[in-house]
Amino acid sequence: MTLRSAHEYRSSPRQISVYNTLAGRKEQLDPIDASSHSPEVKMYVCGLTPQDQSHLGHGLNSARFDIVRRYLAYRRLSVNFVQNVTDIDDKIIDKVLKTGQDPLAMTRGYTDEFYALVDRMHGLPVEKLTRVTEFVPQIIAFIQALIDKGFAYVTPEGNVYFEVSKKGDYGKLSNQNTSMLYESVRKELDKEKRSPLDFALWKRDESTSLSQPSPWGVGRPGWHIECSAMIHETLGDRIDIHGGGLDLKFPHHENEIAQSEAFSGNGFANVWMHGGLLNIEGQKMSKSLNNFTTLVDGLQKYGPAPFRFVVARHHYRSGIDLSDKLFRDNLNALLDFHRLFARVPERDAAQADTSSLEAQALIESFEAAMDNDFNSPEALVALEKARAAIAQQLDSGKATSEQVAGMTKLVVELGQILGLFFDSLEAVETQGLGLVASMLGVPPLSREDIAALLRERAEARAAKNFARSDDIRKEAALRGVEILDSKSGSTFRFV
Ligand SMILES: [Zn+2]
Repeated sequence: MTLRSAHEYRSSPRQISVYNTLAGRKEQLDPIDASSHSPEVKMYVCGLTPQDQSHLGHGLNSARFDIVRRYLAYRRLSVNFVQNVTDIDDKIIDKVLKTGQDPLAMTRGYTDEFYALVDRMHGLPVEKLTRVTEFVPQIIAFIQALIDKGFAYVTPEGNVYFEVSKKGDYGKLSNQNTSMLYESVRKELDKEKRSPLDFALWKRDESTSLSQPSPWGVGRPGWHIECSAMIHETLGDRIDIHGGGLDLKFPHHENEIAQSEAFSGNGFANVWMHGGLLNIEGQKMSKSLNNFTTLVDGLQKYGPAPFRFVVARHHYRSGIDLSDKLFRDNLNALLDFHRLFARVPERDAAQADTSSLEAQALIESFEAAMDNDFNSPEALVALEKARAAIAQQLDSGKATSEQVAGMTKLVVELGQILGLFFDSLEAVETQGLGLVASMLGVPPLSREDIAALLRERAEARAAKNFARSDDIRKEAALRGVEILDSKSGSTFRFV
């Protein structure tokens, strides 16, 4: 897949504005790197804690930030994307102690599975994947620096805590001050800590092979310090964009800010981007509600391309409520695009003509939407309007084939910036037929079945056997397929 030609479409040097959680408003993205040619954007998004198979929420997070990366690249920014793997963590240790698995083999397995699925979703590869297990000495040095600067203290038990009261602006990301927070925490009977708000940087622990020696005894790092130290090691003290799900805003990201700013004496991430939460059929996804969907199962059921389409249809900051019905409706919309692409096979050979007024208008509205806090649903509306206009031109025969091919190619290439259109029409049809059949609890029709039904129905209609033609329509409806008639023949959609 190439974005190279798409780069050339760039119309005006408009700025990108991004909603910054830290500022509580949209701000211009102003890269720290001031080079005029393709400035670097340092970007970090909290990644996987591989104690189990990844779920739909992980896929959602990955697909959302993939759109951001692709658009920044389209805007000629050179994104340096780092993501961590929290392969030392309480949950991992709990699981290892319960199951007796080798921690490294287990976390490797889940991590490899996840990134293979990201690849199936056509996610861009991560520039650098930082595993905590590969950074423990650097994390220890980071903690030592915080102790030396007076922001952290060691307890007689061999734990190290960050002393929240030493960081006067603690709570600025989640808009809480320490006195509010103090009221909200249960006064833990933890005599070790100077304040219940203090959080662990190092935990004394000898229970698994993940533990390592440190100046404070054998133990392992706390969760928050891992991100701060690995960002410092890979991207430096100041980065452009820090992202993650909204559920990480407090305490994880708040604590990252406290640690990193205490360490460097400077600001940390210029922009904090948070993705809205995921629901399944109106409910939070959880194992106890029995709606927990692993990413591998979700992609099997809905397909990687329809999944990306649904993600692009929702703004990254808004919540997303996944359901079979939502996927079915979006499969119809995706089908419309692929049917158009199939009607214009010459698009691949075409030179996308971007000089026409309609091409310029499409580029303008696509960029205006994406420059406005990566508004992918609005950008997708612009593509849908263009799709409808091209289909109409094809029907009316009003445009030249060069114009149609050029515009179609433009729609494909702009769509690729949203992570779309990497699948074939056949794959999308098969995926949709499977989904509607599973929703109805009937065996799915194959593409060949549909073709045979449409053929038989055309023959029946030609022979004026309308009863048979109606029966075929009813048969298809029972399998989740509505037959649509038009002048150019019959087609179908998912119902
Ligand atoms: Zn993190």
